[in-house]
Amino acid sequence: MLKPGATIGILGGGQLGRMLALAAARLGLNCHIYSPENNSCAFEVVRQSTCAPYEDERALARFAAAVDVVTYEFENVPASTAAFLAKRKRVLPDPKVLETTQDRLIEKDFLSSLKIATAPYAPVHSATQLAEGIAKVGLPAVLKTRLFGYDGKGQAKIDKGEDPNAAWRSVKNAHCILEGFIPFEREVSVIAARASDGSVVCFDVTENEHRDHILYKSRVPGKVTPEVASEARRIATRIAKACDYVGVLAVEMFVVRSRGKRSLMVNEIAPRVHNSGHWTIDGASVSQFEQHIRAVAGWPLVKPVRYGRVEMTNLIGDEVNDVSHWLRLPGASLHLYGKGEARPRRKMGHVTRVWPK
Ligand code: AMP
Repeated sequence: MLKPGATIGILGGGQLGRMLALAAARLGLNCHIYSPENNSCAFEVVRQSTCAPYEDERALARFAAAVDVVTYEFENVPASTAAFLAKRKRVLPDPKVLETTQDRLIEKDFLSSLKIATAPYAPVHSATQLAEGIAKVGLPAVLKTRLFGYDGKGQAKIDKGEDPNAAWRSVKNAHCILEGFIPFEREVSVIAARASDGSVVCFDVTENEHRDHILYKSRVPGKVTPEVASEARRIATRIAKACDYVGVLAVEMFVVRSRGKRSLMVNEIAPRVHNSGHWTIDGASVSQFEQHIRAVAGWPLVKPVRYGRVEMTNLIGDEVNDVSHWLRLPGASLHLYGKGEARPRRKMGHVTRVWPK
């Protein structure tokens, strides 16, 4: 158990690292941000930071020596970086979870091994395999690169009657997974926290609306039946236990309706705090960021109390210029990430609105 005043090392310097560092500060803990990008917005809120490539072993060794535990806010940290650090300091969650979640094919195989439903899928490493994959999962389908995909990047939908090879070319013949396209009723996520003693605490099921493949709004409680909500929490808990996870993880799921019955399919696991959990800062007694800090510090988790109906809206690109509207809106809490340029598709901030119970 870390003592107040201890230092948590965070790999990655985006808004998630920034909000983790702010939550840690509230608990009297310090954070040291390690990021290769010199304009990382998390650097602005901490006293200790390292700006160096993930492959720089001297910088990594100094970072490890300066912190008490290491965690990450970014799941595409190279496995070799996590392994190098793990020889010197405790890294939580265990870096082996990165190997499972960085690769969409390994992730789907892992979920299948737990008998958790996913979209039907097939590996695609060649044009021949793409044809075999289509024969297996049917059309429409989504071709996704196995590595480095987020916010719809490295994805191409293939509709009936379309040339599948155009999709294959658009992902630049990278190693892929082909997924059957799921006509879901809604998208939900569960943010779960697991402590090193094995206890798991989930936040309420969140309903997510995407716009152009980027999360636009999260609403809590999600419009799901109590049975679907408890099944969603059970799935997230199973995944956390199976990975011997310590910290916060997010599980994104599709709610599928078939012959009047609803069921869940897991789309993705994020081994970190997640955009669909930002509502917890203003909408609950403990945030996802604080739960993660508590877990990696070896402190007890707590069951969150939700303050009411909550809606989180992302401010993407130049939407950040509308802040005066949000600043004046009663009950709205504005969060800006301190990023420089408002490029299209860039997450610049978010707003949370709470309607008390
Ligand atoms: P991902 O990058 O896998 O999280 O996908 C981003 C978004 O694309 C998801 O939140 C869904 O809205 C949509 N999507 C991804 N995979 C599928 C699928 N197999 N069927 C239907 N929609 C999908």
